[in-house]
Amino acid sequence: MIKEGAHTYIDGQGTVVPYTGKYAVKLEDPFSVIRGRWEAAGITGAYRPLRVEFELTDRCNDTCASCGMGAKPVSEGVTLSDAQVDRLIEQFADVGLSSVAITGGEPFVSSRALYRFIGQARGTVEIGKLTTNGIWGTEKGTRTVFERLVAAGFLDTRIFVPLLMVSIGEQTTPLDRIARIIHHVATEFTDRDLNIAVSSLADPADRKHRIYELLAVYEEMYGEFPHDRVHSTMRVYLENERLENQAPINRPGNTTVSRWMDSCYDCFAPTVGTYVLPCALMKVSGDLYSCAAFNVPEKLGFGNLFRESFRDILERVNSSAYVRTVRAGGGLKGVRQVVPQSVTDQMTCGSFCGSCKLLIDKFEAATGQQEPGGRLATFIPLQGLAVRGGKTA
Ligand code: SF4
Ligand code: SF4
Repeated sequence: MIKEGAHTYIDGQGTVVPYTGKYAVKLEDPFSVIRGRWEAAGITGAYRPLRVEFELTDRCNDTCASCGMGAKPVSEGVTLSDAQVDRLIEQFADVGLSSVAITGGEPFVSSRALYRFIGQARGTVEIGKLTTNGIWGTEKGTRTVFERLVAAGFLDTRIFVPLLMVSIGEQTTPLDRIARIIHHVATEFTDRDLNIAVSSLADPADRKHRIYELLAVYEEMYGEFPHDRVHSTMRVYLENERLENQAPINRPGNTTVSRWMDSCYDCFAPTVGTYVLPCALMKVSGDLYSCAAFNVPEKLGFGNLFRESFRDILERVNSSAYVRTVRAGGGLKGVRQVVPQSVTDQMTCGSFCGSCKLLIDKFEAATGQQEPGGRLATFIPLQGLAVRGGKTA
């Protein structure tokens, strides 16, 4: 399988090879097209997302104990209304957004809304990624679903090769359905039309990935696995402060925040290939976070797309001293200007974004802006910022 990480293209740093990477692009210079869209929309600032990952619904047929999205049972969850979908597309167009990623819940549980979004977005914002647990991969259902996706316009992209991301962590979808979906993609589409990835999240205690089970099931059904067509993401579950009832995560071996900072990639630099960055996250409530990380800190929630314009929210993100410091410093290491290493050497946690959460608190304390936790708490005006040895914007 194609492992994550081999093809990372950052704007201004070397050439882009089209049709490579999990988030492959179709163009040699995607950034000029992406930039052109922002410029035509008059969007400026250090933080400009290439993508918004949004929850179409929080309804799900499954009940994974470590669900990162806080999904609800089908009878209890909500799906974006037609009016909300229309507003989103209008707001995405207004800021020249290049692409979206659709997630849930399980998007196919709300298939009417899913196909409607794809159809309405056609020609305005492209769908770069669609995440699913693959519940629809039955003998009868698979071909029909692909036909409906194609008819709605899922493959009609200009910048990104659309990616179908299938999750097989704690999900209970029988693996023959996942194998059937993979087989359909590998035999009916080329890597210029559609990519497929399998995300296999493991319990951090034993790190057992179901991907190996999937390989065996596939080989039993179809013979050789199409390793050159399937992208693989193998991670472990992280704790997530948005989830009150998340099952405890026992991640062995904590790492110092200093080490996370040293190896952090540049979260806000325009990037395609291995990731799409910057990528914002919108919850089904309309709350928008600057990062589509599994455990993005609550303090990186900057507004609500159903109550405010995307333009205003972007301005707010760009007025955050913390975001500007991370951007100017090429990632979390930039925060060292404000939070010294002697402090971060003493702090430990289990992930990049977990260290970000700790850093925001220290950042606010160091700048004298100790606001209570919660949304919009990081809007610190830059002029009030005491900066040690470096630029902030
Ligand atoms: S299938 Fe995905 S959205 Fe549904 S409960 Fe599991 S992790 Fe959550
Ligand atoms: S480390 Fe912080 S800034 Fe970077 S992606 Fe995670 S939450 Fe966002």
